[in-house]
Amino acid sequence: MSTPSRKIFVTNALPYANGDIHLGHLVGYVQADIWVRFQRMLGNEVHYVCADDTHGAPVMLRAEKEGITPEELVSRVRGEHLRDFTDFGVAFDNYHSTHSPENRAYAEDIYKKLRAAGMIETRAIEQYYDPVKQMFLADRFIKGECPKCAAKDQYGDSCEVCGAAYAPTELKNPYSAVSGATPELRSSEHFFFRLSDPKAVEFLREWTRATNADGSRRMPPEASNKMREWLGEAGENKLSDWDISRDAPYFGFEIPDAPGKYFYVWLDAPIGYLASFKNYADRVGFDVADYIDPVKAEAAGTEMVHFIGKDILYFHALFWPAMLKFADYRTPNFLNVNGFLTVDGAKMSKSRGTFITARSYLEQKLNPEWLRYYYAAKLNSNIEDLDLSLDDFVAKVNSDLVGKFVNIASRSAGFISRRFGGKLGGSDAAALAPFMAEETIATLTRAFNDRDYSSALREIMRLADVANVYVNEEKPWELAKNPDNDPAVAERLHRACSTALNQFRALSIMLKPVLPTLVARVESFFDVAPFAWRDLAAPLPAGHAINQYAHLMTRVERKQIDALLEANKESLVTETKPVEAAKAAAPVVAAPAKAEEPTHISIDDFAKVDLRIARIVAAEHVEGAAKLIKLMLDIGEDKPRQVFAGIKSAYDPALLVGRLTVMVANLAPRKMKFGMSEGMVLAASDDKGEVPGLFILSPDSGAQPGMRVK
Ligand SMILES: [Zn+2]
Repeated sequence: MSTPSRKIFVTNALPYANGDIHLGHLVGYVQADIWVRFQRMLGNEVHYVCADDTHGAPVMLRAEKEGITPEELVSRVRGEHLRDFTDFGVAFDNYHSTHSPENRAYAEDIYKKLRAAGMIETRAIEQYYDPVKQMFLADRFIKGECPKCAAKDQYGDSCEVCGAAYAPTELKNPYSAVSGATPELRSSEHFFFRLSDPKAVEFLREWTRATNADGSRRMPPEASNKMREWLGEAGENKLSDWDISRDAPYFGFEIPDAPGKYFYVWLDAPIGYLASFKNYADRVGFDVADYIDPVKAEAAGTEMVHFIGKDILYFHALFWPAMLKFADYRTPNFLNVNGFLTVDGAKMSKSRGTFITARSYLEQKLNPEWLRYYYAAKLNSNIEDLDLSLDDFVAKVNSDLVGKFVNIASRSAGFISRRFGGKLGGSDAAALAPFMAEETIATLTRAFNDRDYSSALREIMRLADVANVYVNEEKPWELAKNPDNDPAVAERLHRACSTALNQFRALSIMLKPVLPTLVARVESFFDVAPFAWRDLAAPLPAGHAINQYAHLMTRVERKQIDALLEANKESLVTETKPVEAAKAAAPVVAAPAKAEEPTHISIDDFAKVDLRIARIVAAEHVEGAAKLIKLMLDIGEDKPRQVFAGIKSAYDPALLVGRLTVMVANLAPRKMKFGMSEGMVLAASDDKGEVPGLFILSPDSGAQPGMRVK
């Protein structure tokens, strides 16, 4: 029996052609790619496209700085972006550009239809002009204080702190980010999309509330709540019209019948989804109308799904559906919204080296599927920020992927090759039952479909534990000794290894959306066609011939991560912002160098310091102490030691719990205002003050609390 399959047009937010792809970007791309791969395993038809977002002043100015044309710049950056995505296994069917004939055609078509529908009007507005650079300032080149929440240094179009969108003239204390000059207001005629039109407001209210034909929601609940806040109560109208034009000089598409006026980059960016899709459909040979014409799409039952980050929800949930609706295009079925990435509990930071580019990760020879797995293990369907905790990353990859998953095959495959001519025997039905249980498969299907990958992976790792218990009980390595060549023992060895490999196969099918490269190697090891989700229903039968097992995945070492952080620190030197550069150039009064002979200590002196590996079992803020965190440290003694550490500026206590570090265990206890401090943890800092922050030490994985450091 075959169920009618879904036909889905899936997009990812378009990265801007003015910078490298970094690990923060990858959260949304990995999330979408896993979903697309899963849908395809179910047999659904999915078209997955993306493009570079190329227009606007930042690209124009950067090209000018590099002495090349904007076209040359966007073509080069597009190549770099595509290579990064490909290397992380994000497999778009098409990766196009918003600077393309298809995008110009759609932008003009949508604009003309909106104009015909009475949704466009022109108005003279006062706009900021940079008297030094002699140009009107694009929103991103005006900075100032957010008019809604008063956050400082926000861009002219939207606030990164509270998410509000606004006109640049609403900013308080504005300055030009190009020249630093105070901008002047000058008058210019602009084009507006009439989002405040009661028709648009009513449509958006309805669109937010409605569900799809199958009863599914249009966006995660937090996003609908945000929409209700933006739209206000029935009868209220809180929306403003949207300024969709910019004056020359501008890199973009000129507005029809309006020389010297250009479409604002945010108008044609989402239209780039349609352009990339059209470019792909023309190449492959199908009609996009079945996906983008409202009547044909309804008849064909096709879906349009966007994956975006929470910073661009406003554009995708208000402007985009309203533009599509009033230009007579189909509107999206679903907006999936991901949160931001933090690293070790803090915003990605260039000075700490945690602003990590995709390319540098690959150059350090880190496996992209480690990161895909880690992200998946933390992603759910809510709009939550995702923390890449580097120690946890190392621990999780090593324990789940290497220790639990790959280990099953590496302990059983060799015997099949060496003893049984590479052919599987019969399997223990009871041992395979948990992997084939209808309820388990239904749970996993629902979790992947709802983008609740963390639940899916927890369930998969529970099954990996079941498989490992089975292998540990059967002990193939013991059975293989078989000193008397007992045929019953040989038969049991054959059965145990075949069962374990079938368990491993089931886990591989389940993990395939997350680990496509590794699982492709598993497929060739088993010598089978690419796994489909329905393959979970039955194991490989006795007699099936497999190939020689080759090692599938190595462990990640903490020192590789440290090298990655180091590499990302070095790449920054040239990227210092003007303000920081000015600061750095200020005269620094260096402490007079002491006439210092290196003084040596003997090994006996060093041995007096009792350094121990400690596990942080609890960590909390200390009331009334500006710098201290109270740590409870397990060093293998009866009870943990209490230590007050001056690391509050650099660490969130919640994220320290569970970490291993190094402490001085024989420091004389010291009575402090807040209690006894029974030792000291070690942390590095830059004496010269150039690198901010404090860095506590971590041992390589495997170290245990109480081990002596010497
Ligand atoms: Zn704000």
